[in-house]
Amino acid sequence: MNKNKEQVDNPGLWQSDFIYSILLFLVAVGAVAYTSQTHGILLGDYGLTTAAFFVVFGLFTITTGFPHPGFGHVSFDRVAQVASILVLGPIDAAWINGLASFIYPWHRLRNGADLRLVITAACNNAGLMTLVILICGSLYEYLGGPIPLTSLDLRVGGLLLLLMLSMQFINDLGMMVILYLRGISPSSLLNTFTTAVESVSVLIAVVVALAFTTTDRVYFALLLVVLGIGMLVLKQYALMRQRLEALVEERTEALRLKSIELERQATHDKLTGLVNRRFADDYLQREIETAKRQNVDFTIALADVDHFKQINDRFSHAVGDEVLRRIAQILLNRCRKTDVVARYGGEEFLLCFPDTDVRFAEQICDQMRLAIEHADWSDLQTPGGDEIKTTISFGIAESSDDSRRTTILGDADARLYRAKHQGRNRIISRD
Ligand code: GH3
Ligand code: MG
Ligand code: MG
Repeated sequence: MNKNKEQVDNPGLWQSDFIYSILLFLVAVGAVAYTSQTHGILLGDYGLTTAAFFVVFGLFTITTGFPHPGFGHVSFDRVAQVASILVLGPIDAAWINGLASFIYPWHRLRNGADLRLVITAACNNAGLMTLVILICGSLYEYLGGPIPLTSLDLRVGGLLLLLMLSMQFINDLGMMVILYLRGISPSSLLNTFTTAVESVSVLIAVVVALAFTTTDRVYFALLLVVLGIGMLVLKQYALMRQRLEALVEERTEALRLKSIELERQATHDKLTGLVNRRFADDYLQREIETAKRQNVDFTIALADVDHFKQINDRFSHAVGDEVLRRIAQILLNRCRKTDVVARYGGEEFLLCFPDTDVRFAEQICDQMRLAIEHADWSDLQTPGGDEIKTTISFGIAESSDDSRRTTILGDADARLYRAKHQGRNRIISRD
């Protein structure tokens, strides 16, 4: 199996890996040329038709690969590679599978892939495959592994295991080099999944080789059809899983966003965008405790829009809503980042000023009061209609050693009530 082929084909090519791939390819061509001079090619009982068959078979096994989320491109190309070693010997298997690996990446040009990337992929894959097969196949043959394979025994089984391991090892080594040159971590190499695919591939290859050398052509063709369909089914299954995973990911993200939205809705007021009373009460409880523990000031203000009902009655509820929205912005704009402004009731706001004494809170509230008093509402008025005029009143209270949330809120509310009674548009901060 040829892992991470996809990664090698990805853009972002370094000059160094382009050169490396060409060099690797040339070394592989040289190695095949040299060994074939001394040993010859297609010397067995098989001719060019068999060679062509293995090129096509090799291409088919590469094409039936599928992208794996963790391990790059997974395919059963090892089946064709090992089967051809066992039938034709390492030299023929090397150039035949090298040729298949070389041919495969070119189809990407049709999808607009960069020529330099395709050359790199073709040369790297072909070069590496040729050398892996040549080295490991020769080792297998040198140790007495039967070629062509016609029967199995324990010793042959051991040699086949060695063939598999050595191919995986050298292939991974080659992939590490190219990944290193491209600055990609090779951590995805060597894992149980790829080892399992590798082992299954070698077993299938042994069956293919035995069928090729011992059964008649009809049975062999039948076996290939069964195997081919099996591989295609697996590919479809892998692609289906991938689509499912993408779907799950998409839904999970939608759910995450939905729960963020729900959380927001539970703690925020829709009209003004300010935090709501529920949030403010929890916040107040916590902050009063913190202020007591740290012995720092904590001041709040309850603010209520004056005669707000009249705005609704004289202009409309929609205008009332817009006035509330703008008042919320005016309050928010005059607060510091650490302050909290909540919509506490219909036209009532709670302002929390941590680490702030009453005098400073009074100053902030007075700026807010003036800003609202002098706000320009002209764009909300109907032409020729009454002028909108609105003011706001504040009741301020600070937490003391023994204060609870209800006490400080009660104090602020009582002072707000007095502010209303004393004529509105004012701030009361003391009893
Ligand atoms: P006061 O100066 O004594 O506070 O007078 P007020 O008219 O502001 O007080 P009151 O409590 O009599 O009226 C508050 C009004 O606020 C009544 C209610 O219809 C209106 N109100 C509350 N929530 C909303 C809202 O979300 N949108 C609009 N447009 N009006 C609201
Ligand atoms: Mg009011
Ligand atoms: Mg009110």
